[in-house]
Amino acid sequence: MAGERIGILGGTFDPVHTGHLTAAVNVRFELSLDRVLLVVANQPWQKIGARPVTPAADRLALVEAAVEGCEGLAASAMEIERGGISYTADTVAELQAAEPSAELFLVIGADVAPALSSWARLEEVRRAVTLVIVNRPGTRVIAPGQHDLLAGWRTRFVEIPALEISSTDLRDRVATGRPLDFLVPPAAIRVIRQRNLYRGPR
Ligand code: ATP
Ligand code: MG
Repeated sequence: MAGERIGILGGTFDPVHTGHLTAAVNVRFELSLDRVLLVVANQPWQKIGARPVTPAADRLALVEAAVEGCEGLAASAMEIERGGISYTADTVAELQAAEPSAELFLVIGADVAPALSSWARLEEVRRAVTLVIVNRPGTRVIAPGQHDLLAGWRTRFVEIPALEISSTDLRDRVATGRPLDFLVPPAAIRVIRQRNLYRGPR
């Protein structure tokens, strides 16, 4: 659609949770975005070697189930279809090529901001998007020193309900048999159960 305002919320989504979804819907509302894409990383380069990441197809199925029926949110498989290591710069370039008149908003949680400077082809990303930062419990939105980090970026801050939910904790919950209810949408919990995810050795 011409002149669309598109949000990009990239993540590993291992698994997707209410924190991601709350960020997506509130950014969409506050910045009047047409849609927010939850872009599932194929191989997140930051996480390689740190722990086994759940197969991309499973993580995509979780996000698809989670956004079902939620207006303005969509799961995106573009990084999975591209294959290999996922770089935000490639995703942004692909969206720009597909929708040259769209305005792109890259959404990140405050915990991700300090790592920005290590991103591949940072300049390209900076030119192409408005960076949208949302608060995340445990991280100050702008810590001392981050001002420099964000120099040159078009930035917006969107305050969302603070939800202390992380995929790391949810994986641990499944492994130890604790409930996921109200932390993960019911449809995504069903996918976790059906595919028997997060039960293996951690
Ligand atoms: P993990 O614990 O495995 O790192 P995560 O919960 O951080 O998982 P990611 O897939 O790494 O989830 O996060 C994708 C994006 O969503 C990041 O920009 C992250 O900052 C943001 N995000 C994740 N959880 C929250 C939350 N509870 N509130 C706000 N933003 C969040
Ligand atoms: Mg994370």
